[in-house]
Amino acid sequence: MIYDIEFETLPREALEAIQLRRLRATLDRVYATVPFYRRKFEEAGVVPADIKTLKDLRRLPFTYKQDLRDNYPFGMFAVPMESVVRIHASSGTTGKATVVGYTARDIVTWSTLMARALASGGATCCDIIHNSYGYGLFTGGLGVHYGAERLGASVIPISGGNTKRQIMIMKDFGPTVLTSTPSYALHLAEVAREMGVGFGDLRFKVGIFGAEPWSEGMREEIERKLHLQALDIYGLSEVLGPGVSMECIEAKKGLHVAEDHFIAEVIDPDSGEVLPYGERGELVFTSITKEAFPVIRYRTRDISSLNPEPCICGRTSVRMNRVSGRTDDMLIIRGVNVFPSQIESVLMDMGETEPHYQLVVDRQDNLDQLTVMVEVGESVLASGEVRRFQDMEKRIAKNIKEFLGVSAKVKLVEPKTIARSEGKAQRVIDNRKF
Ligand SMILES: [Zn+2]
Repeated sequence: MIYDIEFETLPREALEAIQLRRLRATLDRVYATVPFYRRKFEEAGVVPADIKTLKDLRRLPFTYKQDLRDNYPFGMFAVPMESVVRIHASSGTTGKATVVGYTARDIVTWSTLMARALASGGATCCDIIHNSYGYGLFTGGLGVHYGAERLGASVIPISGGNTKRQIMIMKDFGPTVLTSTPSYALHLAEVAREMGVGFGDLRFKVGIFGAEPWSEGMREEIERKLHLQALDIYGLSEVLGPGVSMECIEAKKGLHVAEDHFIAEVIDPDSGEVLPYGERGELVFTSITKEAFPVIRYRTRDISSLNPEPCICGRTSVRMNRVSGRTDDMLIIRGVNVFPSQIESVLMDMGETEPHYQLVVDRQDNLDQLTVMVEVGESVLASGEVRRFQDMEKRIAKNIKEFLGVSAKVKLVEPKTIARSEGKAQRVIDNRKF
């Protein structure tokens, strides 16, 4: 179902007219109210009036995560605090967190976009949504929650953690839509199995998973284990939260960007040049309707590409391909660029191991050493043949070398050796000292 039939199916020309009008209004506003943007524009020698077409957007400077940190906590807000009704923050594993704010109208916009996203995944007002995204400063939990309510669905605000209780509630309440990170979805499946609960006996029809990059192979694995259709959703707090883009259940091929609220660009992360449709690079977003916390050409560090082809679902927005990694997740192993999601694809395509893995990078004698730890299933373990394990390790290493051009040591480990996450999975442990 298309939630917002008028805006989600706009002809390109009408959409671009709306984008330009909203962009120019946003630029006028940030120039007048956010000292950071005024300074950056002045340094680049542009004023808002110079932006006469959408193409002119590329004359504006980028905004980086570091800029948000430098203006911690509220320096990037474009409205006085009395107009702010909500504050979220992203986890600050390195340095300060980045803080974002919302006006009452921003919350309406966000809820509407999340309602669109849930509807795009096939959810309706008849659904019960089991929301395992974390509630709190993280935007995942409340983002889905408000969208679900706006859609008119029934939402179970279970949040992350206490997994056994989640399974019990799934059995008793009969939710039909699951929202969580993909890694937590797999953890739920595992715990359910231990408790003797089969996902096939639950009522789920669809799962909407995001907040971490995942592969097509992982999609198949989740669909098989959880007996539902697994869809990808995208968003980040700096741009909005979840709901920036979402796959449609009809095509399951690329995420429709809410282009009447955000302008998406893909750039070469090194040169900053805008890349044509279809080419892979770093996603950059400009918000054109947000009031409290607008962002101009925000560098997401997520790697993707844009696809303008018409979609069978009838939505006319450009689709972004599944995020294949983050520029800051990229490992450089002996000069070769490797994304954790590429290793995941190799493992999933082979289909002999479990979808739980971790990459450990060490430096020995000045040489990078990549170790891929991956769990084997109970059935493989039960066979107990050491030789079989060694063969499997060799085959995986050979495929990684063949597809990614990097040598890795593969270590099969027993089920449940690798720590489970209730939020975003930790895929990489980098022990190198730079
Ligand atoms: Zn579609």
